Amino acid sequence: MPYAVISDVHANLTALEAVLKDIELRAIEDVYFTGDAVGYGPSPNQCVELLKKSCKILIAGNHDWAAINYTTADYFNDMALYAITWTADTLTPENIIEIENFKLLKSSAQRDALFVHATPKDPENWEYLMSINDARINFEHFEQRFCFIGHSHMPIMVSVDTESGKVITDKQRIELEADCRYIINVGSVGQPRDNDPRAAYAVVDDDTAEIVRVEYDIRKTQSEMESVGLPARLIDRLEYGY
Ligand code: ZN
Repeated sequence: MPYAVISDVHANLTALEAVLKDIELRAIEDVYFTGDAVGYGPSPNQCVELLKKSCKILIAGNHDWAAINYTTADYFNDMALYAITWTADTLTPENIIEIENFKLLKSSAQRDALFVHATPKDPENWEYLMSINDARINFEHFEQRFCFIGHSHMPIMVSVDTESGKVITDKQRIELEADCRYIINVGSVGQPRDNDPRAAYAVVDDDTAEIVRVEYDIRKTQSEMESVGLPARLIDRLEYGY
């Protein structure tokens, strides 16, 4: 049975609803979430509640932990810092507890997969996995066949052949091979940064892993951000997908 992996929702409820609808239309039941429910967007409480209802595994991202003071936001730029302070003030006590229960990393024996926001090597340091060399290093730090990540907001699939060591990358669709292991960055639902403004997520079945893109009502999210006073640059970037 296919399953879906979603990440980096960033309090963009309209994008999350569009992605969950797309997942439902594919009759996919199992959804896994790899972190950053909140930060940047206008609907942190609704997103935490909908993710809790919809996902089998909930992983913590750096923005989730920053919003509840579990990790520093010192390195955030001014806009991200403004948004995370607004988020911390907006989250209900119940949803703060929900975020406290998000896991830093979690595996699924059923999927032979590890789920983590940043890297399996050093999940608490929120490093970015951006190169084949980074991927090679990180393949040494998990045992499962799959590792699903988010964090960079840029979808990419990396496969390594366990016999030959050959590495292949693809941004859209990869045929799964028996002898290969995979690191899959599923991209971002709520704030894509690969110059494609459509929401991104991953669908995996027995034979393939694929990055799916979903259009959503960007204007709606933008006007909600305006009405709560979030920074203009954060509002604008949604329509560029960066
Ligand atoms: Zn993020």
